[in-house]
Amino acid sequence: MKYRGFGLGKTGKMWENEIRIRGVYLLLEKLLPEEHVNSILDIQPEELKKRGIKGVLTDLDNTLVAWNEAHLTPELVKWFAAFKEAGISVMILSNNNERRVKKFSDQADIPYIYRARKPLPFAFKRAMKKMNLSKEELVVIGDQIMTDVWGGNQIGAHTILVAPVASTDGWATKMNRRMERMVLSRMRRKGWIKWED
Ligand SMILES: [Mg+2]
Repeated sequence: MKYRGFGLGKTGKMWENEIRIRGVYLLLEKLLPEEHVNSILDIQPEELKKRGIKGVLTDLDNTLVAWNEAHLTPELVKWFAAFKEAGISVMILSNNNERRVKKFSDQADIPYIYRARKPLPFAFKRAMKKMNLSKEELVVIGDQIMTDVWGGNQIGAHTILVAPVASTDGWATKMNRRMERMVLSRMRRKGWIKWED
């Protein structure tokens, strides 16, 4: 004799599926950027200002320059200057080590946080405090959904995904990219995103 609700039963299984699907959806939502651009240079301060943004928290590797490139480009010098002029503060938030992040940030004279452990929210919150801004006033920019976008969404900031500067990655990023490709193809199938790889 079979009892309904015994073990998982039919209804139980349905619920289990429901919870699983909702869980995936909740996670996918947290990985979805508000916007996608091909280059960080496409992000302009005037536009952000109109949306009430007062601070930018940007990733370094493959967002500003290639992960193995130590030098600032003239275009980025102009980009940083434009934000300064517009009164939007910029901070670099990187999972990379102090030597790498300091060397780059000092050239640009931009404050930074290294070994940020993105997507964990702690460094994001520390940055917010340092900048004295609320989450609504902050945009998080980066080339990875598993670190930059996920972290930014977790603290409730605006998020912009940038196409990576180089087609190669550092060792720590390679595994994230595999997950990212799976997530992106799922989002694409659902029609959540329109941009190409
Ligand atoms: Mg990066």
